[in-house]
Order: sequence, then structure tokens, then C-alpha cells
Amino acid sequence: MPRTLDPQIKRTLAERIRFYNELGIYDFYRREGLPAEIPLESAPPQIQLEPREPMTPRAKAVVAAPAVEGDLFEVANPKPESKVTDPAKALRIVREDLGDCTRCRLHKQGRKQIVFGVGNPRAQLMFIGEAPGADEDEQGEPFVGRAGQLLNNMIRAMGLQREDVYIANIIKCRPPGNRTPERDECETCSPFLMRQIAVIKPEVIVALGAVAAKTLLAINAPMAELRGHWYDFRGTKLAVTYHPAFLLRDPRQKKEAWKDLQMVMKEMGMPIPTKSAE
Ligand code: SF4
Repeated sequence: MPRTLDPQIKRTLAERIRFYNELGIYDFYRREGLPAEIPLESAPPQIQLEPREPMTPRAKAVVAAPAVEGDLFEVANPKPESKVTDPAKALRIVREDLGDCTRCRLHKQGRKQIVFGVGNPRAQLMFIGEAPGADEDEQGEPFVGRAGQLLNNMIRAMGLQREDVYIANIIKCRPPGNRTPERDECETCSPFLMRQIAVIKPEVIVALGAVAAKTLLAINAPMAELRGHWYDFRGTKLAVTYHPAFLLRDPRQKKEAWKDLQMVMKEMGMPIPTKSAE
């Protein structure tokens, strides 16, 4: 049976959502363990909303459940880009909303600039990596260093150009010394990536490396287990392959990455060339 919320609770939730919206956060999840039914007699302050659910080991097929019913979001502010039909304009709105972001500690740990994302706003295929490195921080564009050159080769091997796809990272500022991003940094930054994905609406997402895969899927598993499967990421098909930086360190794994890309091409109905990325 459809649930209806008490108007007072609804107003309180809407205010809480607006508060998060002002921080640039638009995606909400219900914590595991929260009762499925919100008692109508509950006082509003008892309601717990979290901008992200905790990353815990989970089954491979992940479908994020919205925290609140759709009609509640109509009460709260919609995402500012949601009324814009041109995805390029919508992405500009997301970028403006991000601003000169200081939402996590990485803004004061030596970043030169925010690396938002690059590519076709209507891309059918989206690659998502981990974080900008030194070259990306310098140029303001993801995957422009040696790893970027390899990613370009991988894209070309698929019969595409870099301009055909969209490329982004889980976090948008370079971590000092290229360290792995902390979980809270990923959680703070990734809502903007979610908005980029929602605007672009790719047919397929390829997560490059374990950090991207684990953050998007909330699965704590080794790459050997993450690869070779299709996942449902909020209605979009998602596959996992090695990060190009890893492939530079261990070129023997390029063959395996090529298998992953062939799986993607097959799913997207693309002709599969015989030559792999070098
Ligand atoms: S990593 Fe993301 S959340 Fe953190 S300061 Fe940069 S843009 Fe903001």
C-alpha cells in the first residue's frame, strides 16, 4: 500500500533536504536498519537522513533505494539542472554549483584547480577514475598524463575518440602525493559526480580501478572479483576494469583490460576490433 507522510514530518524532511541541497548534496539514502515505516506519531527530529549510506560489503548487484518517497522531493528544491534539457548547460549548472569548492580537506592540501570532467555531455559511454594526478591538477582535465594517454589508446581501440565519451573521477581535487582518497572525501565529492551522471545519462559506465568501483558500488571486493560482471548502478549498466595507471605499472594486465572493454562493446552493440590497446 502506498505510504503517506504526516504533513509536519513531510515539512521537516523537506527543510532537511533543502539544507543538504544548499551544500550541493541531492542524493539521499536510507541507512540500513531504519524502520521501513516511519511512524506517523514520530517527532520530526527523530528522523535520520544521511546524504550517503555507509560503504559496507554488499551483494554485487547494487540498486540504491531512495530515502524518501518521490512526492517529498517535489516539496523540496529540485536539482537546479533538472529543468534544463541541454546537457551541456546542465553540466555548467552543476559546475557552477560546485564553485570554488571547500567542502572537504582536499581544497587546502595543495590542489591547483578543481578537475570537473571532460567530454561529450550526451556520451553513451562514461569512464570514471579515482582522482586527479599532478598533470590533471596542472591542466584541469582528467586523464591527461601518461595514464590518460593509455586511456585514449583504450578508447581508440574501441573504435571511439576521446571526444565521444565523458571522463570524470570520483573526487575532483588532487590528493597530496597522489594518495588514495579517504572515504569521507569520496562521500563529500561524489554527489557532484552523481549529478553529472544524471545529466549525461550514459548507457554504460566503466569504473576504472578499485577506488572508483568500490565507491560507486559500495562493494568491498578485490579487482579480480569486481571485473567481468555487469552491475546495475541506479539503472545504468556498470562494468569494472583496471585503472590505466595500474596498467602502466603492470602491462601484462592490458589483455585483461581489453577483455573488459570487449564486454562493454558487445553490450553496446559496437563492432569488436581484433587489435587491443597498447
Ligand atoms: S575533492 Fe571534491 S568535495 Fe573536496 S574540495 Fe575538491 S571538489 Fe570539493
